[in-house]
Amino acid sequence: RLSNELIEMKGNIRVFCRCRPLIAGEILNGSAASVLNFEASSDYELQVVASDSTKKQFKFDHVFKPEDNQEAVFAQTKPVIASVLDGFNVCIFAYGQTGTGKTFTMEGTPEQRGVNYRTLEELFRIAEERHGVMKYELCVSMLEVYNEKIRDLLVENSSQTKKLEVKQSAEGTQEVPGLVEAPVYGTEDVWELLKTGNRVRSVGSTSANELSSRSHCLLRVTVVGENLVNGDRTRSRLWLVDLAGSERVGKTEVEGERLKESQFINKSLSALGDVISALASKSAHIPYRNSKLTHILQSSLGGDCKTLMFVQVSPSETDLGETLCSLNFASRVR
Ligand code: ADP
Ligand code: MG
Repeated sequence: RLSNELIEMKGNIRVFCRCRPLIAGEILNGSAASVLNFEASSDYELQVVASDSTKKQFKFDHVFKPEDNQEAVFAQTKPVIASVLDGFNVCIFAYGQTGTGKTFTMEGTPEQRGVNYRTLEELFRIAEERHGVMKYELCVSMLEVYNEKIRDLLVENSSQTKKLEVKQSAEGTQEVPGLVEAPVYGTEDVWELLKTGNRVRSVGSTSANELSSRSHCLLRVTVVGENLVNGDRTRSRLWLVDLAGSERVGKTEVEGERLKESQFINKSLSALGDVISALASKSAHIPYRNSKLTHILQSSLGGDCKTLMFVQVSPSETDLGETLCSLNFASRVR
């Protein structure tokens, strides 16, 4: 392992809060008054003002305001990325209600690329910088967890493939045997794979957006490093996770397939919260096995692994209830 002095982390868990701007529709219908007081907020604190003007202050490792762009977000994310090339496992999550910018933060758009693309770009940049001292091989996998089932997003006709399960390897790490691992040599390769993954993800669903809010999308980067000076080898994993929407579904909406879906989502998001808060409080038992999501991530959560959670919120008054739920969830894991 190379020295890790660059990374200043209080413990291994960080929580960032990001608020999206008001959208045109919200501004037009007038009910969109922001419930977040950014004048009274700082880079570390967010003030929420309820309609009865009660105020609540939440603390984070960083608060991103609506005007903070993708560069600003990535500048704070970068230090964690470098540690992957030093042999550390890293998980980055986007958590929050549907429509708050999880996908915008992780995936972004071709004009405003998000954390996923910038992360790979940064990994290739550092690998190049260490050329001659370290040799790196990078592989990318992309999978979806929907109703506690795993789907490989890099297999075009996944209906014909075997069922994917989490298994423990001889080394004691959690693996998904059979999952495609595509070698990547540059950001163009990654961009192509992300396009394939998104195409596969939308197959069989009437609305891509609809389904994506109800499943977890995981991008996995496996890095094998070789120190050319002393022959030391490292193998590490980086997970970039766009979680299912955290909103509670209205009672009337919930029946049949929808009820099952939302129970699975609740179960896996609360399992994730339980695992991270158990890690934060240095609990002896970490309940990884309570959901497929936490089980897949087991070897990359805890120990000397690093965890970064983006808690995404809406500034709109109509979303206040969900915003408070998300902020409370975030406070629990910090
Ligand atoms: P989610 O994935 O949480 O459901 P999206 O990422 O799809 O939410 O975001 C919802 C909409 O808001 C999208 O049109 C997205 O482009 C826009 N949006 C989200 N965050 C921002 C931001 N920080 N700046 C500009 N637009 C944003
Ligand atoms: Mg999304």
